[in-house]
Amino acid sequence: MAKLTFSIGGIHPADNKLSRGCKIETLPLPPKVYVSMFQHLGAMAKPVVQVGDTVKAGQMIAEPGGFISAYIHSPVSGKVTAIGPRKDLAGFNQMHIEIEVQGDEWAEGIDLSPELVTEIPEDRDFILDRIKMNGVVGLGGATFPTHVKLNPPPGKKAECLILNGAECEPYLTSDFRILLERTDEIVVGAALMQKVLGGCPCVIGIEENKPEAIAAARASVKKLAYPGIRVEVLKKRYPQGGEKQLIDAVMHRQVGSGGLPIDVGAVVQNVATSLAVYEAVQKNKPLVTNVLTITGDCLPVERQHNYLFRIGMPLSYIAEYAGGVPEGAKKLISGGPMMGKAIANLDAATVKGSSSILYLGESTVRKQESPCIRCGRCADACPMGLEPFLLKSLYAASDVAALEANAAQDCIECGCCQYSCPASIALLDNIRMAKGQVMGVIRARNAKK
Ligand code: SF4
Ligand code: SF4
Repeated sequence: MAKLTFSIGGIHPADNKLSRGCKIETLPLPPKVYVSMFQHLGAMAKPVVQVGDTVKAGQMIAEPGGFISAYIHSPVSGKVTAIGPRKDLAGFNQMHIEIEVQGDEWAEGIDLSPELVTEIPEDRDFILDRIKMNGVVGLGGATFPTHVKLNPPPGKKAECLILNGAECEPYLTSDFRILLERTDEIVVGAALMQKVLGGCPCVIGIEENKPEAIAAARASVKKLAYPGIRVEVLKKRYPQGGEKQLIDAVMHRQVGSGGLPIDVGAVVQNVATSLAVYEAVQKNKPLVTNVLTITGDCLPVERQHNYLFRIGMPLSYIAEYAGGVPEGAKKLISGGPMMGKAIANLDAATVKGSSSILYLGESTVRKQESPCIRCGRCADACPMGLEPFLLKSLYAASDVAALEANAAQDCIECGCCQYSCPASIALLDNIRMAKGQVMGVIRARNAKK
């Protein structure tokens, strides 16, 4: 069967899925958790509890701070011991709720049984409300509130729901493991989202390097027999899991500059989000757990893991539980090696979208830059059709108007250009800054309209 892929650019890094054989293990609870109010795209959530309150796991502790925002729930039972600033992954102060763990008692009305609930509720608004009230956000990287994404504005219609099971970033295996271990729940989640979107077809896209996941998803789709859901095999090619690249591969449609997937009839959700939707709707369980991978090229095979964590667990606690930071680790990253963020503060707490602790050794330390040799490889590799070296030069010249004219704002920060550059030029770092400047100008202009 033909394997689907996107039309331009892309690279083929070694996939290094060293932890693919590691079953999901549940982490024990730490003495304290620190729940960030800033763990979704949009406005920060506002605490609704006070110091001294006792809370149960799954109890709502913060409400949305705006239209694009999300509810946050306590991941544990215990006592609120502080509310205030604490450093995040990048070392910036963010508002957190600190909770001292006491037992593990869950709030009323949450079904923690493993029984699979396959019946899809008739009422679309009931499904959407459960997704919203249980704080579901996109778990593929952007953490956009899911209830907003599943509710297209008037005049826009979903023609295809794409479930992203590509997991094209090297090293990461959490999506692979849930595709193997929670397959049925993911497929029910897809059917729930189909219902909300008016019954459009659903394609579950999985890269060819995960044959076991493809087989499991196909068997589940056949068994559960919801109409209009199918599994498609995607070529192994980075960034196959990018939203625009997936839409290109599956629907052969291009999202224009500044456009949204819904403009071409697409809604893209990650497989982990589909699992969270299942739990929110069928079990009334808020999004307080997710799976992350502990991996890296300087970590022995027996120390690689996929862990079910609760939000608010400090990364340092998880790292210690897994045996500590390995000797030889030169870089610590949260996320994949291509698009992940450097961990500047290992005491930062996990958030809904945490996907890994990645330890990279000597081989991944950046080489000294040399002058550009005009080889054009960066442009060939760009899946957005941009000219990375030109953008870097325009950024150096502080020419924001030319950066916008050359679509720096369309950069998806995939890193293909930097990966391909024989001169080791820090293209992504510069283009990311350039994009930030252009987006600032665009936002200011839109605010004046
Ligand atoms: S990081 Fe941006 S400029 Fe570089 S290849 Fe990716 S989309 Fe293109
Ligand atoms: S890949 Fe590097 S060396 Fe080649 S044109 Fe781009 S910036 Fe220059």
